[in-house]
Amino acid sequence: MADSEWTLDSWKDKPIAQPVSYPDPAALTKVLTKLATLPPLVTPSEIERLRYQLALAHRNEAFVLHAGDCAEGFDACTHENITAKIGLILSFSLILVWGARRPVVRIGRIAGQYAKPRSSSYERVGEREVLSFRGDNVNGLDIDARTPDPERLLSAYFHSTATLNYVRALLSSGFATLNYNHPRDWSLAHVRSPALQREFSEIIDALGDALDFSATIGANPSNAPYERGGARTTIGDVDFYTSHEGLMLDYEQALTRKLPIPGSSPSSPYTSPPASRPSTSAGRKVPSSPPPQAPQAPNNGKAPSAQPQTDAAVETSADPNKTHAPYNTSAHFLWIGDRTRQLTGAHVEYFRGIRNPIGVKVGPSMEGGELVRLLEILNPDREPGRVSLITRYGAGKIQNHLPEHITSVQASGHPVVWICDPMHGNTQTSASGLKTRHFGTIISEIAECLRIHAAHDSHLGGVSLEFTGELNDEGFSVTECVGGSMELGEEELGLRYQSFCDPRLNFEQSLDVAFLISNHFKK
Ligand code: PEP
Ligand code: MN
Repeated sequence: MADSEWTLDSWKDKPIAQPVSYPDPAALTKVLTKLATLPPLVTPSEIERLRYQLALAHRNEAFVLHAGDCAEGFDACTHENITAKIGLILSFSLILVWGARRPVVRIGRIAGQYAKPRSSSYERVGEREVLSFRGDNVNGLDIDARTPDPERLLSAYFHSTATLNYVRALLSSGFATLNYNHPRDWSLAHVRSPALQREFSEIIDALGDALDFSATIGANPSNAPYERGGARTTIGDVDFYTSHEGLMLDYEQALTRKLPIPGSSPSSPYTSPPASRPSTSAGRKVPSSPPPQAPQAPNNGKAPSAQPQTDAAVETSADPNKTHAPYNTSAHFLWIGDRTRQLTGAHVEYFRGIRNPIGVKVGPSMEGGELVRLLEILNPDREPGRVSLITRYGAGKIQNHLPEHITSVQASGHPVVWICDPMHGNTQTSASGLKTRHFGTIISEIAECLRIHAAHDSHLGGVSLEFTGELNDEGFSVTECVGGSMELGEEELGLRYQSFCDPRLNFEQSLDVAFLISNHFKK
């Protein structure tokens, strides 16, 4: 299968899992044609920089934080929400950098994480049997808006653009510096356990001292504070990347462009090496660029052919297959979900041809041999940084599967980044019928994962979390997961349950996780 020629739409010849059926195919074609002419959201040089940083995580020289909402909603595309999300990702990563003493690669589930896979195409709402909600880029949550509407794909593009534009603006205005220098009120008021409150305070004091020290020795780029509107010429003073599940292949195809690989074509607008950034006040920055050599020709050396309508940006070159590659320009990082990773399916076919670094969700139904076959298809040239395996077994199942997966991958010699997703195998329904996750179970899967990797001469390269820094008007966090230092009880879930998809850790619970991981690395 993987030996056949890859083209932008070769996925269409394969079985498509989680298909969406549009009542008016002509309307879909019109939208896709428009999408294919719109500008990229991200550039090849940013994508290559992330590939390089993920290769560092593979070598245990960086740690990946992949986090954000289960599903973004169009209505949540607001100044407050975006600021809260970025603020939490920065705070979390600061704690990790501080404890783990290694750079953190930040990848948000943001600016495009709209589509959701569903276990069933239909669901019962009250008396009615309706199409399942598939995410804001497909249909509406309202039960009268469940018919898939292709205009939503266009809206997804523009919401992604608005989100990413604001993220870039925040980061290039010194927002990260502000966050790092004044870690927001860490909401100690909500921490109900005195012991944990003490631990928090001690860590924050130590953090404050370290930041003061770096400011004193001039290692702190406080010359571009958020308030003063200091301008930066790059995306910001921290690297930040976007990601989403690559579920809607029509959309992904329309945003995939055959573009020059940075460094491989002298006349390319993308050839300048990734800009080097000032180091952050956190002190440890992920090296942003690989040694000055062109990345290898992608796609197993085969010629990926592009569709004419998306080839507009391609420059003429003696051998475009060596100098150009199909980049998905809708996000830096895309992943294949646990429900769409079939070896002979459409999603794997599409993903094998794009140049972006990719993730694959790995659950209990994956067998070791199958995992290695998948890696052969997705990364035949075994390039470090290309594939991250995001494992999500469940705290009670990890011991039955992860050891076999690690040994199979080790025996194959594939260079992967192992990322622990402690969320998706640990979802439960509370007595009141709300989907929830228990903090203790989440922590237990992370702890087991760290232990199993260490016992197998492997290492955990990152975590993938569903969390949100959102606060309501009174300044309270969401109540979707149970437990944590705030000891949120099941009976409190209904207070501020805002997710229309999976339950997310709130601000305090997320920082609890950050401290726990950070403390592990400090030992
Ligand atoms: C998700 O990450 O939101 C998700 C649906 O995960 P998985 O594919 O692992 O179930
Ligand atoms: Mn989810």
